[in-house]
Order: sequence, then structure tokens, then C-alpha cells
Amino acid sequence: MTVAFITNPNHIHHFTTGHPESPERLEATLALLRECGLRDRLHELEPRDATDEELSWVHPPAFVDELQRICDAAPAMIDGDTYVQPGSYAAALTAAGSTVAATEAVLAGEIDSAFCALRPPGHHAGPSNAMGFCLLNNIAIAAQAARKRHGVERVAIIDIDVHHGNGTQDAFYDDGDLLYVSTHLFPFYPGTGPPTETGAGDGEGANVNITLPAYCGDAEYRAAFEQIVEPVVRRFRPELILVSCGFDAHFADPIANMALTNAGYGDLASRSLALADELCGGKIVFLLEGGYDLIAVPWGVRTVLEVLLGEKPTPDPLGTLRIGDPPEISELLAEMRTLHGLL
Ligand SMILES: [Zn+2]
Repeated sequence: MTVAFITNPNHIHHFTTGHPESPERLEATLALLRECGLRDRLHELEPRDATDEELSWVHPPAFVDELQRICDAAPAMIDGDTYVQPGSYAAALTAAGSTVAATEAVLAGEIDSAFCALRPPGHHAGPSNAMGFCLLNNIAIAAQAARKRHGVERVAIIDIDVHHGNGTQDAFYDDGDLLYVSTHLFPFYPGTGPPTETGAGDGEGANVNITLPAYCGDAEYRAAFEQIVEPVVRRFRPELILVSCGFDAHFADPIANMALTNAGYGDLASRSLALADELCGGKIVFLLEGGYDLIAVPWGVRTVLEVLLGEKPTPDPLGTLRIGDPPEISELLAEMRTLHGLL
């Protein structure tokens, strides 16, 4: 089992004081992987920048030029949440290119699967707008590279970040060969992603939003996977699965109110891997999106890597915290199953 790992050292130049999307998220992750010796057992891929052509598959050149101009003139705020520094453009370019590199290595059969520990994250970045801590949409660019350059027709993106990946949805909303399926806290930032946003035109039915109330934990996410994510991905028959893996649905996350544990993340990772094994020869790439607790994120990455290596995840120091009774979501899931013809 060859599992690849890729990170972008230039991420450290994308920072601002007191912001949750900090270089420490990735540095703490790299430190834990070093400490437990896991990184030595991974196939390290070389980071690289995205090319203009790769960016153009998702972002119009005018947007990319403007983003570069804003970063060159930084420090600046693109919106109330999204900062840039002079090094931010280079970091974003390497995050996007490295996601493509990992995806291409999986498609070439050089490796079985990959984890991309990169920042800035990407799933809120739409074709022509940077927002929500995201500058370029890394996963959308990688999905396009698979299709434009490697003859892959159908790609499924599973987004388990606590937020709706509005940028990814926008990039593929009328595209029937790209399945976007997201579990997210709703209503919550960025306000998009109700179940009724199911795609348009050729993409009708290929956009699946699973809205969850606050404090859903391992059992509720497992039910959402069993009842909706797994059947829609099976029905779609992807040739490649990409996972927008945000760890901000963990109960310890400081900016959201979900109740997943690290073991729950391990379960979602194994379920995603099982889908890839069943449907697309195991071809799967996980990409770090959000997640802001400096223990939950490193342990989450470690857990996903252990799952990809076929190992039992090491118990994490945060364990389980239950705050009252979990929400009842069976009716909600039944409505979404009906909406997507899964009965
Ligand atoms: Zn998030």
C-alpha cells in the first residue's frame, strides 16, 4: 500500500496575527507526523505550482491576475475573513499545483492514494471570487486536471468540511460529470447549500447538499453516509474520488458546533476509501480544507493517513465529548433521500 503525502513549505508566508487559518495548523500537523514516525512510511511527493492553463480550467485569467495584484499590494483583506500577504499568491499557487500533482500521481498508478496537507484551503473560492479563507479552489482544479489531461470522465468530490463548499458547487453546478456531495452545518457560513440546490441543466441531480443541524456526531454522520453519500456516489460511478477533508466538524473546533470525534473522522475516511476500492480501483485523494483546533487537525490528518495505510487509527488525546443528546435527523435524511430519488 503506497500512500503519498504532499505539503507546501511556502504556506508559512500566508499568515496574519490572530486568525484561525494559521500556519500553526499545518506546522502542528507536520510535527505530529514527524514525532510518531508516520511520515517516514509515506511516499513524499514534490510540491509544485499550478500552471496558468490548470488555473484557467476553473478560474478566468482576469480573476487570477487580480488576485496576484491584490497579493502583491498586501497586506490586505479580500473580505472580512480572508486576508492576503505578499507571499499568499505563491502559497495558493503551490497548494493548487500540489493537489494536481497528487491527483496525477494517483491516476498514473505510481501511488495508491494521497493526502494533501496544504494551505490556504480552497473550497469556498468560486471561479471569480476568493472568500472564506480560500484563494484558489484546489480541489476543483485537480478534478479538472483529471478530466482534461487524463481521460477521466466522472469525478466525485465528497466534502466533509463543516462548511458548505460553495466555490466547488459553483464551479460545477451545471456539470453532470462532476458529482459534488457535501455534508455541512446549516444554516451556517457561507449561507449556501440548502438541499434544494441540486444542480442545473446537465448537472441536475449531480449536486447533493446534506444539511445537518448543530451537534451531529459520529452516529449522525455515519447515517448521512450510509443513507445518502454512499448510494449517490455508487449511482454516479466515479473513476476518481476527491475528498475535501475539513476537520472543523470535530467537537473541539473553535469556530463551529458539530460533535464528530477523531474516530468518527476515521470512519468517514474508511467509508470513502471503501467507495473508491469498490468503484474506481481505490483512486482517492484527500485534501485538507478547514479545521482550526491545533490538536484535532494534526490527529485528524494522522488518522486519515492510518486509514489509507490500512491500519487501525491510533486513539487520539481528545477522545469523546458528548454534550447532551444528539439531534434527531432521520426525518431530515429521509426527505433528502426522496429529493434525490434514493427510495
Ligand atoms: Zn470549514
